[in-house]
Amino acid sequence: MAEEALKNNDGSVQDEWGQVCNQLKMEFGETAFDSWLKPLSIGSYNNGIMDICVPTAFMKNWVITHYSDRIHKIWEHKNPNIKKINFVVRTTNNDSSLLKKISSTPTPQSFYMPQTGLASNYNESTQREGFMQLSAPLNPAYTFDSFVVGKTNEFAYAAARKVAESRNVSFNPLFLYSGVGLGKTHLMHAIAWHIKQQDPKRNVIYLSAEQFLFKFVKALRYKDTAAFKEQFRMVDVLMVDDVQFMSNKESTQEEFFYTFNSLIGEGRQIIISADKSPTDLEGIEARLKSRLGGGLVADIHPTDFDLRMGILNYKAKQMGIELPQKVAEFLAQKITSNIRELEGSLKRIVAHSQLLSRNEITLDMTQDILKDMLRSIDRKTTIDEIQKKVAEYFNISVKELQSSRRARTVARPRQIAMYLAKQLTSRSLPEIGRKFDRDHTTVMHAVRKVEGLIGEDSSLAESVNALRRMLEN
Ligand code: ADP
Ligand code: MG
Repeated sequence: MAEEALKNNDGSVQDEWGQVCNQLKMEFGETAFDSWLKPLSIGSYNNGIMDICVPTAFMKNWVITHYSDRIHKIWEHKNPNIKKINFVVRTTNNDSSLLKKISSTPTPQSFYMPQTGLASNYNESTQREGFMQLSAPLNPAYTFDSFVVGKTNEFAYAAARKVAESRNVSFNPLFLYSGVGLGKTHLMHAIAWHIKQQDPKRNVIYLSAEQFLFKFVKALRYKDTAAFKEQFRMVDVLMVDDVQFMSNKESTQEEFFYTFNSLIGEGRQIIISADKSPTDLEGIEARLKSRLGGGLVADIHPTDFDLRMGILNYKAKQMGIELPQKVAEFLAQKITSNIRELEGSLKRIVAHSQLLSRNEITLDMTQDILKDMLRSIDRKTTIDEIQKKVAEYFNISVKELQSSRRARTVARPRQIAMYLAKQLTSRSLPEIGRKFDRDHTTVMHAVRKVEGLIGEDSSLAESVNALRRMLEN
């Protein structure tokens, strides 16, 4: 009966599932999709009730807590007949390919042995394959050459270069942290490329914390944790991106802690990234936190105007386009959230101008193309809101913020509020000034002052960043 129903609906339901998958991939990103959603497959469909097969119980729980609502919503939108989605633990045909892949993974002895410089048992290509499976692919565009250095990222850049260039472990681990889209992944890939180029024999493994977790879970599933551990022991340089992902996942943290300690003990280099400093990471065990912070901790601050200009000009040159400085300045003033968005908006403008075969990029055209985006930035935040949030954050009243008091404890938050007003709204300097009972030159001075401080004072930079995040959400 159920079989029959599935047969009848198979084609369309399969199609729908494909579409749902595409949507999920877009929303959650390739990595999450590959780790958690790709292994799912359709079981049966009957009377609006859909069974989706999940290979393991662990994965089932994970998918239910993280993705099931979204899957349901998307699917319901495509097919209103869907009433319920069940996740059932069952291996399907699909899954056997995964099984094959895993069982063909070379056993630990097959890996390149750093101690002897000789590969045991296997030929070179097999070893390579083994390591390639462990490491996630590297983006060829993410190199040191393509990384634009400014005040806000020069320290992290210097630390990354140092690690990439020295054969001896200089600081272990190197811990990079920043908000999203500010270049952590770029720097990690750059280190990997550099080492690979200089010394192709060194085994450099780059993977996200999520991939680490997924590989670990796979190993558990195939009762192969010994081999899993062995694989990591053969690594010369291990990079784990976005470790905040391990928050509240005790067993993964424990496994990682083990791997981490044994690698450090053997003098291998470890590089970690996260969205917060080791001490601020939440849901991470104290002993792991203290290990993570035990080497060099380098943060990338929010961008300043100069870096944004530098990046725009560099990327424009790379794309072979002429970017008028007026346009660059406009973009650098408006798109301040992160580098990914800055890059995105530049690409959009270039794509438009090429599509319409306009040879010239103008300010009018830029404003027009980015209208929706800029409007949504404006809509989100008002100066009143900014004043309220900044005052709250610094434990002062809005009245004080608008007052003429010059004490540091009030003057600095005031400057930060003016800076954020300039960045997050499209209000002019005089308009902002009026809200603070000041003239436009005071606002201009405040904006410059805060821009300067962001590059020098990391606690101030963090406050600005935190406020920006709060206001943008
Ligand atoms: P994160 O990992 O911190 O979220 P990414 O490394 O993914 O950020 O960077 C986001 C985008 O911005 C990438 O396309 C990256 O190449 C680009 N980018 C970040 N920092 C720089 C920089 N200093 N110079 C040039 N491009 C950068
Ligand atoms: Mg990243």
